[in-house]
Amino acid sequence: MADRYLSFTGTTPGRFLTRRLGLPQPAALRRWSPRHPRLDGPLLHLTAGKSDLDLAPVLARTGLPAARTADGSPGPAAGVSPAAVVLDATGVRDVGALGEVHAALHPVVRSVAASGRVLVLGAPLDPADHHQAAAQQALEGFSRSLGKEIGGGRTVNLLRLTDARAAESTLRFLLSPKSAYVSGQVVHTDAREPTAPDDWDRPLAGRTALVTGAARGIGEAVAETLARDGARVVVLDVPAAEEDARRVAERLGGTALALDITAADAGERIAAALPDGLDVLVHNAGVTRDRRLVNMPAERWSSVLEVNLASVLRSTDALLAAGTLRPGGRIVATASIAGLAGNAGQTNYGASKAGIAGLVRCLAPRALAEHGVTVNAVAPGFIETRMTAAIPLFIREAGRRMNSLAQGGLPADVAETTAWLAHPASGAVNGQVVRVCGQSLLGA
Ligand code: NAD
Repeated sequence: MADRYLSFTGTTPGRFLTRRLGLPQPAALRRWSPRHPRLDGPLLHLTAGKSDLDLAPVLARTGLPAARTADGSPGPAAGVSPAAVVLDATGVRDVGALGEVHAALHPVVRSVAASGRVLVLGAPLDPADHHQAAAQQALEGFSRSLGKEIGGGRTVNLLRLTDARAAESTLRFLLSPKSAYVSGQVVHTDAREPTAPDDWDRPLAGRTALVTGAARGIGEAVAETLARDGARVVVLDVPAAEEDARRVAERLGGTALALDITAADAGERIAAALPDGLDVLVHNAGVTRDRRLVNMPAERWSSVLEVNLASVLRSTDALLAAGTLRPGGRIVATASIAGLAGNAGQTNYGASKAGIAGLVRCLAPRALAEHGVTVNAVAPGFIETRMTAAIPLFIREAGRRMNSLAQGGLPADVAETTAWLAHPASGAVNGQVVRVCGQSLLGA
C-alpha cells in the first residue's frame, strides 16, 4: 500500500500545507541502489575527549571523501553539507568532557545533508568507574534525543567499540544508504579479529544462506539482498507457498525448500537438504493471530508461539548439533518492536518475539565459543508489507508516523540490516537485537 501522505509532503503545496498545520514531515529516504551505493557528500570526523581509536584508515575505506576546510585541513567547509558526521566520543570519561560533545556537534548539526548520518562512537561502560559510566551512558540519551529532533530523513546512532577494524563492517553499514531506516540504536562491537572479505561488494560469495518464510514479504527481500551479496540462497516456506518460493528461488539462482518450520524434524530435514553445510541461517518466518488475552483461545496462543519461537529454538539446536552451520556462520532471527515494547492484542506475538531476544542474548556467547557462529536479531517496526497493508486506515497511519522518520520502513531495510549481521566481517557483533524501526516511539 503506497504511502500517499509521503508523496504529498514531497510536493511544494503538500509541504506548505502540512507545515502550516503542524503535521509530520517525512522525507523521502535515500536507500541503497546499484547506482547509488554511497551517501552523497563528505564525511566529517570529529573527536570529543582523548581517543585511542585508529579510526581514520577505516573511515577512509567507506569511500566517503573526508570533509576539508578551505585551507585543506580536516573540518567542515563553508557551504558544503557533510553526508555523515562521525563523533568519536570514546574518550569521554566524565561529565565535564560531555561539553566537548556539545562543542563538536552544535556548530555542524544544522549542515548535515538530508538523509545524512550522525554516528556517535562510545566506549563500553567501565564497571570500575562510575564517572566514566555516567558520561558514556549519557551518550545514549544524547543520541536518541538528537535522533528525535534532527529530521530530514537523517539518522543518529551510537556505536560502542574498542577496535575500529573489528567494527569496519558496522561502520560501513551505519554510514551507508543501507541503514536508511535504522535510527536511535545503540550497537556494540567487541575487539574480535576481523575477517575482511575478498570483495566488499559480494561478501557472501561462495556461501550458502537459508531464509525461512522467504516466499514473500520481508523474507523474500532478505533472500534477494543476500543473493545480491553473493550468497547461494535456499528459499524455505510452507508447502502451500511452494510455487511462490520456487519463483523467488529461480529469480535469485537459488533453490526452494518446501517445509513447515514447525515440523518436529524440520532442523534435521534442513540438515539433510544441505549436506555441504550452511553459512547463514535467517529465521524470518512468522505469523500473527491477534486477540486481546481475554478473548484469546489456547490455539491462537500456541500457534504463534510455535511458529515464531519454539520452531526457531528447535531448528537452531538441531542445526548447531548437526554441525550444519559452519564456523564463521551467522544466525539472524526476526524479533519485533512489539516484543520489546508490548502491543495491545498481541500478548502471544509479543511473548514470542521477546523470547527471540532472550534466545539471542543467551545463546550468542556459547554459539560463538563452541561453534564459531554469531547469533543476532533484527526487530522490525512498522514495515510496508501485506501484513501492515491489512491494518485499518487510521491505525495504519498512526503506525507509520509514530517514529522519528515519520514513515514506514520497507522490507529492504530489514534485509539490509540482516545482510550486515550476516556479513563475514561482522564477527564482532554478537548477541544484539537491532531495531529497524525509524526510531519508533514504541519502547526505547
Ligand atoms: P508475511 O506474512 O508477509 O510472510 C511470512 C512468511 O512466512 C510467509 O511466506 C509464510 O508462508 C511463512 N511462514 C509462516 N509460517 C511458516 C512456517 N510454519 N514454516 C515456514 N514458513 C512459514 O510476513 P512479513 O511481514 O514479511 O514478516 C516477516 C517476519 O518479520 C515475521 O517474523 C514477522 O513477525 C516479522 N515482523 C514483521 C513486521 C512488519 O511490519 N511487517 C514488523 C515486525 C516484525
